[in-house]
Amino acid sequence: MSDEWVSSLTPSQKDVLLVRALAELRKSRDRLNQTPNNSSKPPSSRSPWESTCTDTETEASAAPTAVDAGATKLPSDATSPAPAPKVSSGKPSAKKAGKQVGAQGFGRTQKLAYTEASPHHPDSCAGCGQSLSPDGAMAYTAWDAIDIAEKLAGQAGLFLQVTRHTLYASTCSCGHVTRAAHHVAPDDPFWDKVALGQWRLVGPRLAGAIVFLALRMRLSRARIREFLIELFDLQLSTGVLDETIREAGRAVAPLEDEMVLDIEQAVLLHVDETPWKEAGRPFWLWAFVASYTTLFFICSRGLEILSNVLTAKFTGNLMSDGYQAYRHLGRRLRCWAHLIRKCQGLIDSTDSRVARTGKGMHEVLCILMEAIYAARAAQAQPIGALTSLHATDIARLQALCERHRDDGNDKLRALAREFLLDWDVILRQVSEPELPLTNNAAEQALRHWVIARRISMGTRSEAGTRAFALLASVIETCRKRSASSWTYIASVIAAARRGLAVPALPAIPVGV
Ligand SMILES: [Zn+2]
Repeated sequence: MSDEWVSSLTPSQKDVLLVRALAELRKSRDRLNQTPNNSSKPPSSRSPWESTCTDTETEASAAPTAVDAGATKLPSDATSPAPAPKVSSGKPSAKKAGKQVGAQGFGRTQKLAYTEASPHHPDSCAGCGQSLSPDGAMAYTAWDAIDIAEKLAGQAGLFLQVTRHTLYASTCSCGHVTRAAHHVAPDDPFWDKVALGQWRLVGPRLAGAIVFLALRMRLSRARIREFLIELFDLQLSTGVLDETIREAGRAVAPLEDEMVLDIEQAVLLHVDETPWKEAGRPFWLWAFVASYTTLFFICSRGLEILSNVLTAKFTGNLMSDGYQAYRHLGRRLRCWAHLIRKCQGLIDSTDSRVARTGKGMHEVLCILMEAIYAARAAQAQPIGALTSLHATDIARLQALCERHRDDGNDKLRALAREFLLDWDVILRQVSEPELPLTNNAAEQALRHWVIARRISMGTRSEAGTRAFALLASVIETCRKRSASSWTYIASVIAAARRGLAVPALPAIPVGV
């Protein structure tokens, strides 16, 4: 479209061009105005200086290191110009994560004296079955395990102990020599190169603490290593830490069925998903949140997991965003916060007609929301009472949507159609005001792991991904049940290493 071309147009052609150019300009302006408050843009798209008080919690926990570093630098940099902040170039490093091929390896050099002894004797003869006495048994091999000691009553703080496990061999009167064995779980194709067994340097309670530091405290392997050296004078390689976390994932794996059962039986379930990365490939992290159970899955495809987890057995209410994948599921609920943000997007439009319509929709939603809150406070409202009380408001919203279902403005048309397509689902909370209005439960469950993803750049292997989702699920479920995830995961690791059935998930607290 050159200047000559424009001047060659007739006045009426120019009028048409002007109208079209204005519409394009409005569209681009609106796109520029999009923020997490009026569109589906995630809060992470906000610039750092734009953070509002609503997400200070996330920001504060996400960036304390940056603040600390700035503060400690002040005195030494007072006279010299401040160095430019180190900014990631955004270019992916050509190096693979972890130890580089040919790099110097660090074996375990730290020698610790053992404080406890744990002899393992064979109970009975493997030949004739006669019971064996420990007298005269010969030690044939041993390993040391470092663990956090069980707390004594009234004791504060943590104490490390080193236990020497010695395996003995006994000679029976029949002449057969029987050796005490340590348990090793058989190979599992789902857990390639993840060994599970008794012969371990890191004891179960220390392993549980490492899981807690990695997932709940979101520390990198290098930071955990630093932590253990600083506080306990204990040197563990990042390789050992990584192995410990994956082993813990394998140990808690049998609990998945119990959690899936809880999800299937939930009366109210919140579901949400967020992008994830495994070795740089795009994956999805799903959260299924029931009253006392939270289950995470990480998978490459979106829809498959929904049909796998939510089979016909699930008959509860399902709260979700407007994502297509949920549309076939019955008893759905829609998050009103998402709809209100979309209305706000229309209100912020530079097109006054669109803004006016958005304001009308926004008004009706706010009136209904107030009524829902009031009904909750008053209780004893028969089902459907609000629907008839606010029939005029509901009719007004419906008329607005009907009038704009073929509107020329993309955003207005999309929202009008979204309302009409999901009309009954969106209005369910009006007839049953005790149902939740937002999907905050699922969004909050994901928030912690979104920060973890930003720190760790996701997971690096299939086993690592599976361990992460399983351990995150157990930790969140323990938290929902007001139980210690550390001691519970430690008890699961202890049982799984010995080949015993793992203890059931902490009980649902009574009287809450
Ligand atoms: Zn014997």
